Amino acid sequence: MSPDKNLILVLNCGSSSLKFAVQDVAQREPLLSGLAERLGGTQPTVTFKDAQGKRTQPLTAADHGAALDAVLAELTARGWIDGLAAVGHRVVHGGERFTGSVLITPAVIAGIEACNMLAPLHNPPALLGIRIALARLPGIPHAAVLDTAFHQTMLPEAYLYALPMAQYRDWGVRRYGFHGTSHRFVSREAVGLLGLDPADHGLVTAHLGNGASATAVQDGHCVDTSMGMTPLEGLVMGTRPGDVDAGAILYMMRAEGIGVAEMDTMLNKQSGLLGLSELSNDCRELEAAAEKGHVGAKLALNVFAHRLARCIGGLAMGLRRLDVVVFTGGIGENSARLRAMTLARLRAFGMVLDGPANERMIRGTGGVITAAGTTPRAAVIATNEEWMIACDTAELARLADGDTVEAP
Ligand code: AMP
Repeated sequence: MSPDKNLILVLNCGSSSLKFAVQDVAQREPLLSGLAERLGGTQPTVTFKDAQGKRTQPLTAADHGAALDAVLAELTARGWIDGLAAVGHRVVHGGERFTGSVLITPAVIAGIEACNMLAPLHNPPALLGIRIALARLPGIPHAAVLDTAFHQTMLPEAYLYALPMAQYRDWGVRRYGFHGTSHRFVSREAVGLLGLDPADHGLVTAHLGNGASATAVQDGHCVDTSMGMTPLEGLVMGTRPGDVDAGAILYMMRAEGIGVAEMDTMLNKQSGLLGLSELSNDCRELEAAAEKGHVGAKLALNVFAHRLARCIGGLAMGLRRLDVVVFTGGIGENSARLRAMTLARLRAFGMVLDGPANERMIRGTGGVITAAGTTPRAAVIATNEEWMIACDTAELARLADGDTVEAP
């Protein structure tokens, strides 16, 4: 990477959206970020956000190509296009093939494609984004940063389901885990910020957003995580239930006479905080409603905290020692109420909340929220997946020393 080329374009393609950030790895905040929405629909738009504010404009066509063209036109207008050193692509599922971030080659594309069946909603749009970006920016390195990679250090006893082994061998049915980039980022941050020994520490990191997962990190490595083969397992989420007795799912399919498609919708879109509260999937809205006495909102928050505490306790079992519980994600970084409710349920671990400190840690302010001198500690650390992706990409680009790949 030459010194005059210091910008990394980070892309995160969904089926109807393209999220992007332009990062200078020397600084953690993006220079420019934004979202193209309603791709494949009507009235597609792209929004650009920088330190000066936000601007939304219509797209000329409702596809990912038009969205990326608009982003590149913006970079050209700002005189940044020649400063682009590399592109980092967020990819959800890397199966067992990817244990870390990789430079994109035809073999890597084939490897991601081979994982499509494991993430049919997420991997195909990421591949589309990779192909489009390679075609438009063929002269610079592209890297894939995979959500599953951090969890590949789990042992078979942590990642296997107790199903017939043929299901694992023939179909890859096992636990993979997700949100790996976030768990990796906050666990590293925790070591630096809290003065932990990089070679001797035990953490549980809780990424709590609309999707939620918790991970046990021993000496920098994932040893267990709450999400499974898909992002449905584990904690209560905005619209996903987390753990449910598989027998209950079979029972509901028989009782309601519903098929796979309807059950998929129930599990992905109608459950979790929304299903329990019968009001909203949004934690902030539920907290406001609970304040006013909404019974469903209170119930949903209680179930969320109960299940989170139980999960943290279970994950701690895989550690030599629990030093810190880290809260991150939209809920983890902002909901003092849910953090307090969760720690209150972890009394058996000896965790003592510092109430005023907990109330202070919101909107990007991070730090320890347990009483001074008590262990284990709990802390709030804001996640920064885009910067982590940019750092991995810059490092791989440096190692590649100018090698680039042809658009396939
Ligand atoms: P994310 O998916 O990480 O963007 O997180 C989204 C979740 O964070 C939603 O449930 C929001 O309601 C929640 N959230 C954001 N800000 C707050 C807040 N101030 N208090 C409670 N929850 C919040």
